[in-house]
Amino acid sequence: MNQIARIISQAKKEGRKALLEPEAKRICEEYGIPVTKFKVASNAREASKNADEIGYPVVLKIVSPDIIHKSDAGGVMVNLKNPNEVSNAYKKILENVKRYNAKARIAGVLVQEMAPQSTEVIVGAIKDPQFGPTIMFGLGGIFVEVLKDVNFRIAPLTENDAMEMIIQLKAYPLLKGFRNMPAADISALEQILCEVSHLVMANPEIKELDLNPIMAYQKGAKTVDARIILE
Ligand code: ADP
Ligand code: MG
Repeated sequence: MNQIARIISQAKKEGRKALLEPEAKRICEEYGIPVTKFKVASNAREASKNADEIGYPVVLKIVSPDIIHKSDAGGVMVNLKNPNEVSNAYKKILENVKRYNAKARIAGVLVQEMAPQSTEVIVGAIKDPQFGPTIMFGLGGIFVEVLKDVNFRIAPLTENDAMEMIIQLKAYPLLKGFRNMPAADISALEQILCEVSHLVMANPEIKELDLNPIMAYQKGAKTVDARIILE
């Protein structure tokens, strides 16, 4: 069985519809979608050791099947600069999460590379009842939530579809670089859209996918948070 089938069957066995962030990111990696380096720790010492290997600064996040929005639960701590900060953050996150939901099952704490701040974009996939797998692209934050400036295309995407989804956004001029916003690597974003299209076409068990946010850089891009929901 390949890595993806193994992750999906494990989730099903445990009765989980939502994959954990490390599971979703591993699936992304299989398709060449760039994600932050990550390792899962099960105690504070292991978290510091993982951070030493990944390189500072790092971000720590709760891994729990019962916590969907990790930051709402106090389950995300960013910009940790040394082993001591990592070990304190580990304890703090567990405390926060226990207070938020005393019954939450804890699968570990994810230690990951801190992606430098940049223009945030989101890539999503849903299954349209009529058209099947459909891919979404937009800029993060207010652009999606307030302005609803997003584009959809039915999968599988051609390279041309991917390009249109990006350049037809109202916010596209921002991606091309504006004032103190550097230009984003459009071809890296096109590639992510095509890889997500491959991923959902090849894995019909995936009901929804959400890469939010992806940091778009002048060269390349990096997925910071990934969610996958199974049928
Ligand atoms: P959730 O959406 O479940 O609350 P996220 O993983 O999206 O949790 O983390 C919340 C926010 O923290 C992100 O939107 C991002 O701004 C920041 N963040 C999370 N992980 C990283 C990372 N590896 N590098 C930089 N910023 C991060
Ligand atoms: Mg998120």
